[in-house]
Amino acid sequence: MHGLEASAARVVELVAAGRATSRNELATGLGLPPSTVNLRVQALLSAGVLVEQGEGRSHGGRRPRLLTVNPGFGHVWTIDIGSRHVRLGPMDLTGSLLGTHELPISIDTEPSLLLGEISAAVHALPRPPGRWLGVGVGLPGPVDVVAGTVTLPSRMPGWRGFPAREALQRLFEVPVVIDNDANLMALGQARRGAPAETLVVVKAGTGIGSGLIVEGRLHRGRDGAAGDISHVRIPAGGDRPCTCGNHGCLETVASGAALVAQLGVLSTSDLLAATEDVTVITAVRRAGGLLGEVLATVVNFANPDAVLLGGALAGCEAFVAGARGALYERCLPLATRRLRIDTVFGGADAGLLGAGSLALESVLDEALRGESRR
Ligand SMILES: [Zn+2]
Repeated sequence: MHGLEASAARVVELVAAGRATSRNELATGLGLPPSTVNLRVQALLSAGVLVEQGEGRSHGGRRPRLLTVNPGFGHVWTIDIGSRHVRLGPMDLTGSLLGTHELPISIDTEPSLLLGEISAAVHALPRPPGRWLGVGVGLPGPVDVVAGTVTLPSRMPGWRGFPAREALQRLFEVPVVIDNDANLMALGQARRGAPAETLVVVKAGTGIGSGLIVEGRLHRGRDGAAGDISHVRIPAGGDRPCTCGNHGCLETVASGAALVAQLGVLSTSDLLAATEDVTVITAVRRAGGLLGEVLATVVNFANPDAVLLGGALAGCEAFVAGARGALYERCLPLATRRLRIDTVFGGADAGLLGAGSLALESVLDEALRGESRR
C-alpha cells in the first residue's frame, strides 16, 4: 500500500472513532498535509464511504461540515479459522462487529470441503443491510498473502500450497483477503486497540503463533514467517518431536496441544475449566513461563510498547502470570521499564477484529482507487 490509497481505512477509522470530524482534524491525526487529506476525503465522499452532515464548531471563518461514516455503504464478513473452531461475523465500516457465531470444525478436513462448510454457515446467517463488500479470513498457518495460498504449514499438512483465497472468492463471490491468524490478531490490536505502537501479539491456543506490529504496521517479513516463535528450540523441549520435523520446539511444551497431551485431558477448553486443579494450574503456569522465556529475547531485541497475549490459553490467569514473570525476570530492565504486558483487546474476537480490519483496508483502498480512475 502506498500513495493516495494508503490511508483510506485510516481516514475512515479516525472519523468512525470520532477522533476526527473535519479535514483539519484528519490532517492533524494523520500527520499529513491538508491538501493530501482533502483529496482523500473528496474521493471517499464521492465513493459514498463518507458523508458530510451539519456544521461543526468554527475556529474563525466558515464553519466546517462534520464528516461521518456512511453506515449504508456496506459491510464485510470476518472469519477466524482455528484448529477446532471457526469464529465468524459481519463487521460494519466503522470496524464494529455486528454479531459473532462459532462452529466446531477440524482443520484436518480436506481444505475445499472445510471452506465449503464455512461458506454454507455464512450464507445461512442473516445479512446486514448495505452491500457485501468483501471477506477477511485468518488461517492457523503461514500464508503467502500475495499468492493467496497457504505455505509450508506444519500443523495443517493437507493445506500445503492450497489456493485458499481463490477458493473462498469462488464461494463468496466478493473480494477475499487472507493472512495468518496471529498476524491478523496483531493487526486488529494495532487498528482497534493500541494504534501506532510497536506490539508483539501472541496467539496461544492449540498452537502458538505471534505477530509483530512495528510502529503501527504489520511486519510479515520476506516470506510471511515473521513472528513465528513456535518453532524456537528451547532446553525444556528436550528431544520431543515437533509437527515441523524438528525436536524440542516451544510448541512441544507450551502450546494448548502440548498441555492437553501432557495432562491427559480432551481439549484446551477442559484446561480452562479446571481452574481449581493444582496440577493443571502448575502446568499451565509453567507453559506460560516457557513462552515468556522465548518472548524475553523478542522483547530485548524489539523493545516493543506492549506484549499482548491472546488465544484460548490467554484466558487462563496462570498462563499470563507465568509469561509475565519470565519476561520481568529475563528482560533488560530498560526493555521492561515501560512495557505493557496484557491480554488482547477484544478477547475471543481479537482475531475477527484483525481479519475484518484487513478486509476493510482492502475494500476501502479499492473504493478510492475506483474514484481516482474516474
Ligand atoms: Zn517445531
